[in-house]
Amino acid sequence: MNVLANYPPTAELQAIDSAHHLHPFSHANDLAKRGPRVITSAKGVWLKDSDGNEIIDGMAGLWCVNIGYGRDELADAASRQMRELPFYNTFFKTTTVPALMLARKLAELAPGPLNHVFFANGGSDANDTNIRIVRTYWAEKGQPERSVIISRWNGYHGSTIGGASLGGMKAMHGQGGLPIPDIAFIDQPNWWAEGGDMTPEEFGLERARQLEAKIKEIGPDRVGAFIAEPIQGAGGVIVPPDSYWPEIQRIVKKYGILLIADEVICGFGRTANWFGSQTVGIEPDIMTIAKGLSSGYAPIGASIVTDEVSEVLSNTEFNHGYTYSGHPVSCAVALENLRILEEEGIVDRVRSETAPYLKQQWEALVDHPLIGEAKIAGMMASVALTPNKATRAKFDAPAGTAGFICRDRCFANNVIMRSVGDRMIISPPLTITKDEIDILLSRARKSMDEAHAQLKADGLMA
Ligand code: PMP
Repeated sequence: MNVLANYPPTAELQAIDSAHHLHPFSHANDLAKRGPRVITSAKGVWLKDSDGNEIIDGMAGLWCVNIGYGRDELADAASRQMRELPFYNTFFKTTTVPALMLARKLAELAPGPLNHVFFANGGSDANDTNIRIVRTYWAEKGQPERSVIISRWNGYHGSTIGGASLGGMKAMHGQGGLPIPDIAFIDQPNWWAEGGDMTPEEFGLERARQLEAKIKEIGPDRVGAFIAEPIQGAGGVIVPPDSYWPEIQRIVKKYGILLIADEVICGFGRTANWFGSQTVGIEPDIMTIAKGLSSGYAPIGASIVTDEVSEVLSNTEFNHGYTYSGHPVSCAVALENLRILEEEGIVDRVRSETAPYLKQQWEALVDHPLIGEAKIAGMMASVALTPNKATRAKFDAPAGTAGFICRDRCFANNVIMRSVGDRMIISPPLTITKDEIDILLSRARKSMDEAHAQLKADGLMA
């Protein structure tokens, strides 16, 4: 019997889930008490759950379903490839047509000299690859001591040992003895939470200059790379002040260290350009990509490196790879996804129509009594919840209390928004229409009204 064709009712599904399924980033006992929502199908920006609710997906799955749900072309591409060649490896002097075609396509799309692709299964393991690339690159250049990679507190680079070490999430470091050696951190450019009395521009410069100070502290001959998301995603959609990235670019050039742009969220139109690096005006040596590369229809990630990095790496045997590096089905799906993004002009439409429309509505949320700042870059946006916007105050409660209240109201109102501490964030499919943006925003506002009322009732704000 096909258990997927005729499945039992919600309560039974939830019981099976609780009995056997361990969820990422979840407290299992808490989840079991409430029971997870069971998502059964989706079309466009709309999810359906096992009780028949229609939910607008403000998060594009997990920042990934850029072209929206339900595109038959991707299902057909996968089916065709599975029948033709479901798998072959790329390790032993072999390649496959989907892998080489996708590598060429990525070289064409990625800016400047980023022309060489090493495939992974997702963003975390692509960042693990990056650690290996950086250290192998410097070893090949005769400077093996340049093994330190500088990253940022509250950055997110994945959940493998390497990815979580590069990331600056202290709760992740706390489980399992991370980070690995030779990863160093500087502070994030989050003006709202950490900017004090500085103007955003002063603060952006101050935070960027921490990189120079850290390089000097460690020793310029020990530092191999700096990694960052062009715009932090999982850390709460932190859009840096305009002064930040030009100063970072100046510093990495000055010390000759590699710049890794983690584009796992920002890539493929999310910031209204093909890559976040174009939006913030930087020239990385290495790019991490995943998510929007296949719009989440199949797991795939990659590192794209410049001609120069590739040339150095090519002098040695790189002892690294995953069974599924360049998986033909994932590559075929990604190629079809990129064709749709390009031929349907989705990134251009985001830039010229829907992102400006969303921006106008999103920024208007600062009028809401609960909202301090509203930030947006293309189709990723955040608001900071605060009991007092004049003083940028925090709630007199553990961080995340207000965020969870608001997120629960969103859940109840059939809109998916995520909370990160006391910020609320969205990252909808790039295909969202203006009418759907109206629905998203009206449900978000209603949820914020209800959260505001509850926070007042709980005595957490006036
Ligand atoms: N880097 C960034 C910037 C991410 O946002 C994520 C995932 N949210 C990752 C890496 C990890 O990717 P994955 O979950 O596909 O391993």
